[in-house]
Amino acid sequence: MNLNQFEKRAEVFREEMLREYYQAMAGLKEHLEIAPIYERYADLFAEDTVRWLLGQRQDKRGRYLAELATMGYLEQRVKELTEAITNFILKATVEWDGEEIPYQTVQPRIANEPVMERRHELYARQRAVTAQSNDRRAERFQAMYNAAQELGFTDYTTMCDQLEDLHLAWLTEQMQTFLARTEQVYVEQLAHYLATIGVPEDKADISDSLYLFRAPHFDGLFPAERMLPALRATLSGLGIDLDSQEGLDLDTEPRPLKSPRAFCAPIRVPDEVKLVIKPIGGQNDYKALFHEAGHAQHAVNTAAELPFAFKRLGDNSVTEGYAFLFDNLIRNRHWLREVLKTPDCEDYVKFSRFHKLWFLRRYGAKLLYEQELHAGVKDPASRYTEILGNALKVTIASERYLEDVDDAYYVAQYLRAWIFEVQMRRYLEREYGSTWFTKPAAGRFLMDLWRQGQRDNVVELARQMGYEGLDLEPLTEELLNF
Ligand SMILES: [Zn+2]
Repeated sequence: MNLNQFEKRAEVFREEMLREYYQAMAGLKEHLEIAPIYERYADLFAEDTVRWLLGQRQDKRGRYLAELATMGYLEQRVKELTEAITNFILKATVEWDGEEIPYQTVQPRIANEPVMERRHELYARQRAVTAQSNDRRAERFQAMYNAAQELGFTDYTTMCDQLEDLHLAWLTEQMQTFLARTEQVYVEQLAHYLATIGVPEDKADISDSLYLFRAPHFDGLFPAERMLPALRATLSGLGIDLDSQEGLDLDTEPRPLKSPRAFCAPIRVPDEVKLVIKPIGGQNDYKALFHEAGHAQHAVNTAAELPFAFKRLGDNSVTEGYAFLFDNLIRNRHWLREVLKTPDCEDYVKFSRFHKLWFLRRYGAKLLYEQELHAGVKDPASRYTEILGNALKVTIASERYLEDVDDAYYVAQYLRAWIFEVQMRRYLEREYGSTWFTKPAAGRFLMDLWRQGQRDNVVELARQMGYEGLDLEPLTEELLNF
């Protein structure tokens, strides 16, 4: 197999996987069956293929293909454990109010439970179930550490850092500064918002944050029936006609098994991209739709002639950055006024800024913690409690110390995307004004970026916009502004 053959076959593999995910999540199929697909394409992730590709990292395309094969190889090595954990979670239940409720539905229940003591109790019962999967999760990570070392990397962290070009040392230093600089503002805002839901500061835990951020009193600003028209109007402002985009299929058909959260399945880029929605309304549903619409626009505007490695692989912070640019509109007062015609939105704008500050502090802390975890720190469960507790100033229970960790430092991809998004947004505001989303010229600028797929990483894209590279300053300033 040469590089071209590997790339072609990897593209078909990705297409089959995404089609399977799309059908299962859109409610067109009852079960997700990915094991047979992995089996058919096992040659892509065989150890000798991975070793050969790791030697082909002289240019971007080689690096991106090597990353795909290596991560796929690691997934293959732990697939039985992944399946066992997923099946355990799918079957698990929690006893509540005299009935057994599915583990997967506990979180929305907590978010909608107005009585603090009941939230805390339900959360404790959920964690007791989570803890039962921890041995298997620890075993799964250990197997990935071993695989990384067998492939010749110093350790798992170094492997992710090198293959994904994450610059973890730089990012870590930046996030430590960010946590220190935003601490005071965060503490004040947290006290204010906890008081609004009647939770004493020394009693607050994660379940209270779920309830706080559910914020049903803002639902009225975001009615279900205006979701899709708001998306259409936004795109139309940028000179994009959602309904005439070739390659984009908007799936709005109601089906009982359809995922309640919007998602984008870029099955073939750019000519078969699905944007699937089941409108419920509320800020979180709007955010999810706009986020996924950002992914969809990126995919459907990607140049067809690019090699697969540049269309679909490379730096995922790029596509997350475009998705964040769109979901951030939901908290943009100009957008709320212009597009959603909401004159009175200041409370929401402030609230949602605090929500973002919470998220950034949580992810910054996760970045610190995940490096300790993967380095084999003694008693990682208590380090999880300490590091996240220090950042969030609420009680952090230890049971989720492994469940709360995504593979391959996706936490870093998100952080890079958040940083990049604000830089890109500032650029759009400077060039096209604060209502850039109503300017077709801004749309053309974005389409030029989207056309490049993920060939360039967020650092290179920031440089193309005149920055020296990624810069946390604009994001920090934005989140200090209460
Ligand atoms: Zn995303």
